[in-house]
Amino acid sequence: MKKLHVTFQVEQKIKKGIKLLEKKDFPKVVFDVDGFVELLTPRHDFLAIAYFSSQNKGVGWVISTRKQAVDQSFFEQLLLKAKKERYSYEQKSNITAYRLFNQEGDGFGGLTIDRYNDFAVFSWYNSFIYSLKDMIVSAFKEVYPEIKGAVSKYRFNYQEKADEGYLQSKWLYGEEPPQNITVLENGLKYSVFLDDGLMTGLFLDQHVIRERLLDGLSLGKHFLNLFSYTASFSVAAAMGGAISTTSVDLAKRSIPLSKAHFKENGLQLDKQRLIVMDVFDYFKYAKRHDLTYDVVLIDPPSFARNKKRTFSVIKDYSKLVRDALALLNPGGLMILSTNASNLTSVQFKKEIQKGLEGRIYNILYFDQLPSDFKINKNDERSNYLKVFTVRVR
Ligand code: SAH
Repeated sequence: MKKLHVTFQVEQKIKKGIKLLEKKDFPKVVFDVDGFVELLTPRHDFLAIAYFSSQNKGVGWVISTRKQAVDQSFFEQLLLKAKKERYSYEQKSNITAYRLFNQEGDGFGGLTIDRYNDFAVFSWYNSFIYSLKDMIVSAFKEVYPEIKGAVSKYRFNYQEKADEGYLQSKWLYGEEPPQNITVLENGLKYSVFLDDGLMTGLFLDQHVIRERLLDGLSLGKHFLNLFSYTASFSVAAAMGGAISTTSVDLAKRSIPLSKAHFKENGLQLDKQRLIVMDVFDYFKYAKRHDLTYDVVLIDPPSFARNKKRTFSVIKDYSKLVRDALALLNPGGLMILSTNASNLTSVQFKKEIQKGLEGRIYNILYFDQLPSDFKINKNDERSNYLKVFTVRVR
């Protein structure tokens, strides 16, 4: 294994429990090779085992602060520990889709594994972890013999053949999942697809918020869902007794996917409006038509670009809140969500406060990732999801 000395600052970071290695930590290293390294302190002592492989964030991960082999039994131990920690999910009959392994929170950055009924979805975030695929899959099969088959999602640029485009999704082992499968969450049904692009039709990290909507927050209310994707929040709100739901998304594809979720739960579509429109245009449309709502949920992507404009959470969230406020009935609720890991909860709250300026409000709930999305407690960035539920007088 290669050896590499780190600076005193990086040594301190690693000793604090930070696992993500960033480019700025290694100014002199050229990152053209993937692989394990042994990190040494400036005083030549062993510090940690890590691996380098560039990905969407950082250049690598610390794997262990002990000298140890990273072999199949190492992965079996990690997976078994992760499985035990999700025992309560395994026991519940009303949830069949949840995360089984969450990157650094479960001891190995660069990999997530999700369960959808008896199928698994492996997301590989860099080429090095993908090179360990066979070993990881063998370990997984030992720990999860009950899983019938699995699919890979490539979260890094991966070409199977040099002259082909980048691949996003591919069957991995065992049985191939059918095109659509129905999973349960909080007892509701969602129609998901496991082998089509990077997404599956349901963002599993939001199950606590969907539970809140189902469990009283939307009862007797008119509900507006902005950046709705497959309208999973609207489904939970409708099943929780919302009088009407309105879901707004720019992508045309969101309509059939949303309808599929509604139909699974036997909901009539006449009270569920599905609108293909830019959210910022919808604010104007709703104003012109005097449309108002009791609960407005905003869950935008961290960054998006369309023909007309670019949107970024850091730059635009306060404007989103201000514009949405104009459509909110007195005493209404705003559910304000972001998954931007580069925005701290303190910064996010400030943006929300900016948007709510001049209004009286109180925060009812602050939610972050649910327990199946295990985080690294020493690194706030790993708890990327932030959701404030606010009542505005
Ligand atoms: N809230 C959703 C996930 C949102 S994913 C859920 O929990 O299921 C982000 C969505 O925002 C995508 O479906 C994308 O089509 C949509 N989107 C991006 N920019 C938009 C814009 N300006 N107006 C409306 N929708 C937008």
